[in-house]
This record gives sequence, C-alpha cells and structure tokens, in this order.
Amino acid sequence: MPEIIATTQRVEALNRAVGVLRAGDLVAIPTETVYGLAADATQGEAVAKIFQTKGRPSFNPLICHVDGMVMAQDYGLFDSAAERLAHAFWPGPLTLVVPRLPHPRIRPVHELVTAGLATIGLRCPEGFSRQVISALGRPLAAPSANRSGRISPTRAAHVADEYPESDLLILDGGACAVGLESTIVKVTGDDVTLLRPGAISAEQIAETTGLKVHRPGNHAGIEAPGMMASHYAPDAAVRLDCETCPDGAAWLGFGNRHQPPNASSGLNLSPLSNLVEAAANLYAYLKTLDAGGAGLICVSPIPHEDLGVAINDRLRRAAAPRAAS
Ligand code: AMP
Ligand code: MG
Repeated sequence: MPEIIATTQRVEALNRAVGVLRAGDLVAIPTETVYGLAADATQGEAVAKIFQTKGRPSFNPLICHVDGMVMAQDYGLFDSAAERLAHAFWPGPLTLVVPRLPHPRIRPVHELVTAGLATIGLRCPEGFSRQVISALGRPLAAPSANRSGRISPTRAAHVADEYPESDLLILDGGACAVGLESTIVKVTGDDVTLLRPGAISAEQIAETTGLKVHRPGNHAGIEAPGMMASHYAPDAAVRLDCETCPDGAAWLGFGNRHQPPNASSGLNLSPLSNLVEAAANLYAYLKTLDAGGAGLICVSPIPHEDLGVAINDRLRRAAAPRAAS
C-alpha cells in the first residue's frame, strides 16, 4: 500500500523523501500544478522507474524541477530572455526549455530526462516540493503522477488510487492550487515559442515581460511534446531483433545472448535482463557505439513488455529511415 505523509509534518516528510530519492526510488510530490512522480534527475535507473511505474510507452523528455535560478543555471543556458521569464514567473507554473549546458560543473542530469536532446525543460515549483529539491541538493525529474493515459492527480488520494499495489511514498500537500499542467515555452535567444499551453497564458507572458510568444507552425512539430523526430539519432544505421550481424557491425546486446564474434564492438544494455538498467544505459550506449564509427548497430531482441515497450519504441525511431531535413 502507498504511504502518505502530510507535508505539515515538515521534518519527517523532508527526511523521508530525501532518503527515498537518494536511494534511487520515487516519491510523489505535491506541486502547484498537479502531483508529480519524482526521481533524482541525476540517477538514470531512478528516472527509468518513472517510465516503468507510469507505464509510459515512450521516452519523452521530462521536466526537470529546480529550487531556483542558481540550480537552473547549473544545467541550462539562460540568455537574457530566459532569465527575464524565470524572474517573472518562478517559482510558478512556467517551464523553460533552454539549451542544455554541455559540461555542467556538477553531476549531470541523466539523458533519459532530456531524451537525448540538446535542450532541457526546467521549472521551479512553488511550495513543499521546492523544499524537497533544496534538501536533496539535486533537481527532480517529475511528470504528472498518473498512470500513462489517465487524468493528472491533484490530490494525494488520487495518486494512491493510481498505484494501490505499490509502496510509493506520497507527500500530501493538500489540493493543488492550480490543478493544471505548467505552460511550456522554448527560449532560443530572444525567441519564445509556446510548446504547451498551460496555467500561464501567452498573453500573460507577453504582458509581464514584453516578450512576444510565437505559436509553433505545423513544420515546428518536431519540437512539440511527445514528438521524437528531433531526438538523438545515431549516424550509424540501426537494425533491430538481430541474432547475428554482418562483419564489422557494432553489437548492442541484452540479456545473456552472446555478442557475435564478427562484431567490431559491443555493449550489453543489461546482462541480467533488467529493463530498468537497460533503459538507463540506452542513450549512452548508442552514443558510444556510434562514436566507434561502425556503419551499422545491430540490436539483439528486447522483450516487448514493461519498460521494453519504451526501449523498443526508442530503438525503432533510431532505426527508421531519416527524414530529409
Ligand atoms: P509531463 O511528462 O506530462 O510532465 O510533460 C512534460 C512535457 O515537457 C512533455 O510534453 C515534454 O515533451 C516537454 N519537455 C520537457 N523537456 C523538453 C525539452 N527539452 N524539449 C521539448 N519539450 C520538453
Ligand atoms: Mg502528464
């Protein structure tokens, strides 16, 4: 059964949440938008558990929650427009998609959070979850705490109803003040593009900051939530469900299947067939094999269940013919 702790028991709630998050497990947190299912954003296996728990069939990027500008600037590049937006609306329901800092001074956010993109979605939430982030000293990756395809929870009891069989720790901060997802804008220099409408309107953003908010045209679909076409694609071709490979190809294995002797290089996503581990290794291993210069990456079969659905979805996109750009 899920365990619910009221945030009015501040010290206990903070200590328990930080302990669970540090150990690489999930905590449901109250924010002003909706309840989030949070993991330490720097731990790949913890982030993979978000997708597993929600039953998400694909690895779309997650919003990275920070406790303020100092932490945000460790991970994202803030030009003057992005800085103005953050000062005007943080803490609050506005997510800023900004260039990801390539070499942060500290432990980086795991690639599963950004889905391999060169950008990162950052938001500073209001209320108790911000205190959790400060106490942890690391950002939290957190999508809405509902199971995939269901309605976002705005009460602790809604979250408990989603995962009755789990022992999920849920912080009860009462009803969410806004009850609606955050607005997401992408900021490139002075260009502000609305990616998802939400609690703060485009007009409100324009009025408060003087910045014009563009609405994406049809061809800007690659930036739209859930679209993966712009995500990292290896230079090498990718072939799925391989038992063997042509001479010189790179091999991406899973489980106890042996690497073919004629492969030029190889990595195993999870020798013990652990899908959480495999998900956490996916982007890094694709990149490493790609960097090795093989023209083809052959991937051994990955069970199409649990997190395997999202892993296979990602691999299928990597294997799909490239759109001309
Ligand atoms: P949810 O998982 O429901 O909280 O939604 C998070 C939203 O943020 C998704 O629609 C993502 O596509 C979007 N998002 C997060 N990070 C990025 C990013 N770097 N680029 C574009 N969209 C992002
Ligand atoms: Mg959601």
